Amino acid sequence: MEIKAIRGFNDILPNEIGKWQFAERTAREIFEGFGFSEIRIPILERTELFSRGIGEATDIVEKEMYTFTDRSGNTLTLRPEATASMARAYLEHQLHTFDPVAKLYCIGPMFRYERPQKGRYRQFYQIDAEVFGVENPMVDAEVILMLIHFLKKVGLERLELQINSLGCRACRPRYREELKHFLLTKSFQLCEDCQRRLHANPLRIFDCKVETCHEAIANAPQVIDFICSECQIHFDQVKKYLERAELTYILNPRMVRGLDYYTRTAFEVVSYQLGSQNAVTGGGRYDNLFQEIGGLDIPGIGFAIGMERLVSLLPKDREFIQYPHLFIAALGEETMKEAYRIINQLHLEGIRAELDYEEKSLKSQMRRADKLKAQYVLILGEDELKRGKAVLRNMENKVQEEIPINNILNTLKEKILRD
Ligand code: AMP
Repeated sequence: MEIKAIRGFNDILPNEIGKWQFAERTAREIFEGFGFSEIRIPILERTELFSRGIGEATDIVEKEMYTFTDRSGNTLTLRPEATASMARAYLEHQLHTFDPVAKLYCIGPMFRYERPQKGRYRQFYQIDAEVFGVENPMVDAEVILMLIHFLKKVGLERLELQINSLGCRACRPRYREELKHFLLTKSFQLCEDCQRRLHANPLRIFDCKVETCHEAIANAPQVIDFICSECQIHFDQVKKYLERAELTYILNPRMVRGLDYYTRTAFEVVSYQLGSQNAVTGGGRYDNLFQEIGGLDIPGIGFAIGMERLVSLLPKDREFIQYPHLFIAALGEETMKEAYRIINQLHLEGIRAELDYEEKSLKSQMRRADKLKAQYVLILGEDELKRGKAVLRNMENKVQEEIPINNILNTLKEKILRD
């Protein structure tokens, strides 16, 4: 029986990879320009990192983690997100003793046992950026500016930045109670999951997709009306810094990000490019995460961009595939030897060249060159070779010319790199 990939786990094929590489390359360039360094963290971690860091009463920890016991009896989990691992690495390697401020980014796969559907997978990729060790609202705006700059740079349009403040350890409990109190009167409208959430984590009900839950929460009290004066000052400053950076935003008091560790600033960027609203990315401040996993009071802020969603929004008219610069059509045994010599030299010079290993007819080789969308074809025939010549055909304008073989590398380099 044919073996297929697991449901929700995707292959990213060569004809799509150009978009991914473009997005990743642009992220690296921009983030590093903003002073961020890449960090690579393991895919597997101890389960408690996520259950403590993300929070027991979140969907991720409750039902979406890939958790298993290894041969030594350790309970391990495939990372469902990168922030907790990045925070763990920062603590474990005591990066804060070198410099309390760390600006880090990470690109890679995450794993969540969600019901696979379009745009929702069990293995998906994220680009994450985090700043650890800064409470100043200036950095909130800086991180958002970097994010918007990146999204624009890769070609996303009609973006809308939405922000909210979720309060802190001091003021959120009061809001939680108020929300719970309100929802208790509507509990008959809530789905089974939200009945549970009502006691464990009522803020999660805002994210529920069930229609009756939506209705139940429609007139619920809003967190922004309950935040303490410190949180209010922090939020006002964030808004001021955004304005100074000429970033327009809208306040979305109903945006309550799902993970437990978020505090104060929360943001999402949506794109109206495809007509309906599309959340491309979200993030926020999490001043409690380090407490949960390491007992230290270290603030953090960051975001995660879903790569699959991002790639689907990249401009359609842009060419992301790298086609061959040159196809060498060789005819006959002697010319194959020459083709082999030339192609090796071209590859060493970074020129994308292809040839036909099967020594098929010229017609069939030209057909393949066409299919591969080669820019030029170099035709090597026995007769031309004897005269020390080859024919170079420009596949776009169909112009052919004879070129001498003895200086062929330079001639090709000049033409190809000039185009
Ligand atoms: P989160 O870590 O849940 O805040 O998600 C951040 C981004 O990751 C989202 O905006 C999505 O684009 C993406 N994402 C989250 N879960 C999935 C998934 N199961 N499949 C594909 N993308 C996802």
